[in-house]
Amino acid sequence: METPAVPTKTYTLNEEQEKNEILRKYRALLRVLKPKLKPGDRELVRHSFEMAADAHKTMRRKSGEPYILHPIAVAMICAEEIGLGVRSTICALLHDTVEDTEVTLEDVQREFGNEIARIVDGLTKISNVIDASSSQQAENFKKILLTLTDDPRVILIKLADRLHNMRTLDSMKREKQLKIASETIWVYTPLAHRMGLYAIKTELEDLSMKYMEPDAYRDIAQKLAETKRERSRYINEFIRPLKEKIEQTGLKFDIYGRPKSIHSIWNKIKKKGVSFEEVYDLFAIRVILDSELQAEKADCWKVYSIITSEYQPQPERLRDWLSRPKSNGYEALHTTVMGPQGRWVEVQVRSRRMDEIAERGLAAHFKYKEGTGHEDRFDKWFQQIRDVIGSPDADSVDFLNDFKTSFLAEEIYVYTPRGDVKMLPAGSTALDFAFYIHSAIGSKTIGAKVNHKLVPIGHKLRSGDQIEIITSNKQKPHEDWLNLVITAKAKSKIKDSLKEEKRKIADDGKYILQKKLEGMKAAVTPGNVELITQFYKLSSSLDLYYNIAIKNIDLKELKEFQVFGDRLDLPRPKHQEHKPQEHHHDHHKPLVPPKDTELIIFGESGDQFKYTLANCCKPIPGDDVFGFITATEGLKIHRNSCPNAARLLANYGHRVVKTKWAKNKDIAFLTGIKIIGLDDVGVINKITNIISGDMRININALTIESRDGLFEGNIKVYVHDKEELNELVSRLKSLRGIQTVDRFDPEENK
Ligand code: MN
Repeated sequence: METPAVPTKTYTLNEEQEKNEILRKYRALLRVLKPKLKPGDRELVRHSFEMAADAHKTMRRKSGEPYILHPIAVAMICAEEIGLGVRSTICALLHDTVEDTEVTLEDVQREFGNEIARIVDGLTKISNVIDASSSQQAENFKKILLTLTDDPRVILIKLADRLHNMRTLDSMKREKQLKIASETIWVYTPLAHRMGLYAIKTELEDLSMKYMEPDAYRDIAQKLAETKRERSRYINEFIRPLKEKIEQTGLKFDIYGRPKSIHSIWNKIKKKGVSFEEVYDLFAIRVILDSELQAEKADCWKVYSIITSEYQPQPERLRDWLSRPKSNGYEALHTTVMGPQGRWVEVQVRSRRMDEIAERGLAAHFKYKEGTGHEDRFDKWFQQIRDVIGSPDADSVDFLNDFKTSFLAEEIYVYTPRGDVKMLPAGSTALDFAFYIHSAIGSKTIGAKVNHKLVPIGHKLRSGDQIEIITSNKQKPHEDWLNLVITAKAKSKIKDSLKEEKRKIADDGKYILQKKLEGMKAAVTPGNVELITQFYKLSSSLDLYYNIAIKNIDLKELKEFQVFGDRLDLPRPKHQEHKPQEHHHDHHKPLVPPKDTELIIFGESGDQFKYTLANCCKPIPGDDVFGFITATEGLKIHRNSCPNAARLLANYGHRVVKTKWAKNKDIAFLTGIKIIGLDDVGVINKITNIISGDMRININALTIESRDGLFEGNIKVYVHDKEELNELVSRLKSLRGIQTVDRFDPEENK
């Protein structure tokens, strides 16, 4: 390799070291690939490495290291963690060349052929997702999916790329970290999940959380570390009798305990409203069997019966993904049993083959393809995606949301009256099912029978339901049906048919307009129609005809129009009283700087803006917040932990501005605190003493309910900032008999 050109002399001292580091990483990559190399492959990989190294030679990453280390790392993830082959590795090495360097797609094609060029092209198209406008991003996402169904390797390499960027996110600016992390949560983790890449999905979730919820992340990580010793002791105690009994059967196996991810523990804490100490399944036990393919299911059940004769199972917690694997290929048996000291413990049983598919997903699945019936499941999924992308519906932002609910969600199994199994995303309704069977059935649905009981069409289905659809020839899709379905197929079919209906009605409107224009001696020319459409501020001629037909527009104003030949022109202005046109690009509109701002915003220009606090998350000063420029209401401040934050940051990253609170003791903010504790004499008095006596905080409302010796108090108070709130919470916590003190949104628990 040629010595890379170094932009400044500062690096000269390290040049030799850097070169060695690059070669060391490259050799490590070759070692991993070695078992897969066929004659000639080594030269090809080397050629791609040299091409990439040369193309990126003057570039450095944000961290200052040579850029080429990134493609090498991505290639390593592809080869080692996803288990992809030589061609994918070459693509990974080249993945940023066409996008960022002088190398062209033609170069790649000439040197490496069509297959590799096509994948690199796919990777190039999707690399500029960030900072694009929302519709552009959705458009890009559509492209990702088209390429995905074309060749799944594109998305696997893209996931590897994202994983490495997330692993090295530290050197980015905070703003950028938030954008990338939320985009990861929004698009990439569900995709990784759907491709069956559990290990990567989990790591992406944890890394995103580390940047989006740094406090919660650190807190849980620390507590996990502190409780590690106790946990290992417990796991050993739990495993010991099982190990003995499974050994007696002569099966070859591994058994171990594994902590759950920080992100999943955090989810549990949030969902169940419990503390870290109360999350019982901080870990799961895994039994991995080295069984022959024909014997693996029977062996798994054998082990299941050993486990459940040692420990009592919780009957409703048996998950059998052996008989019916998940659509991402996951197979295993999960059960929850009562372990020593009365603790519930989750146990997962699977074969080595199933384990590899569970950890490495699609790539491993291709390795085991023959005879397992998996290919079918992925092919079906890809076909469904292709169907939806192929439909003419133009709204791609909707599409992105629909896609998430339709294709990235968990699925349920339901049955037709004849007993055929159909797979639908969780949350699907009877109407979704009807459209899934056939759009002609969906359009005529008036009701359904689920398990022989009559239900409305919006009824949510559950796994195991048997559904019979009731139709009528008089029925047709309604606008509100769009709220009753979640699958992309049903949505797009309903929209198509609503549009069709609108078109029919619009025909009448077109006729009315024609008559009117003829009366004025003008004609229905495209130019005239466009002029009138714009005059009424409508977006298309279809809208114009439709609004005429339903008598929303009476065309009275047309009388004022001027006619030249058959051409129309706008009425002559009477007096210049026209208000300036309102623009929809509100984010370009200068916002008025407020007088007493208690929020400093670091926008691109460093200006200060007027803002409002978002209703969804009710931030108070001191919270971790970001600003979001809305189309209609100016700047809105959200908490980083807001349930809407991930979506906003991922889809509209360009509208996000960094914000920070400044101190202001004049303005107080309403927030809620929930206190749970022992119903002790005088406890209410002590609580109110602290709030209004010691801390002089105003109480807005207070409700106390007590039952079975416990009380729950909901108190709404006005605080000035988070510091004050924290102080209040910690004082309340220190009271005797108080169990938990938590903040809540003052609007929700009314
Ligand atoms: Mn990259």
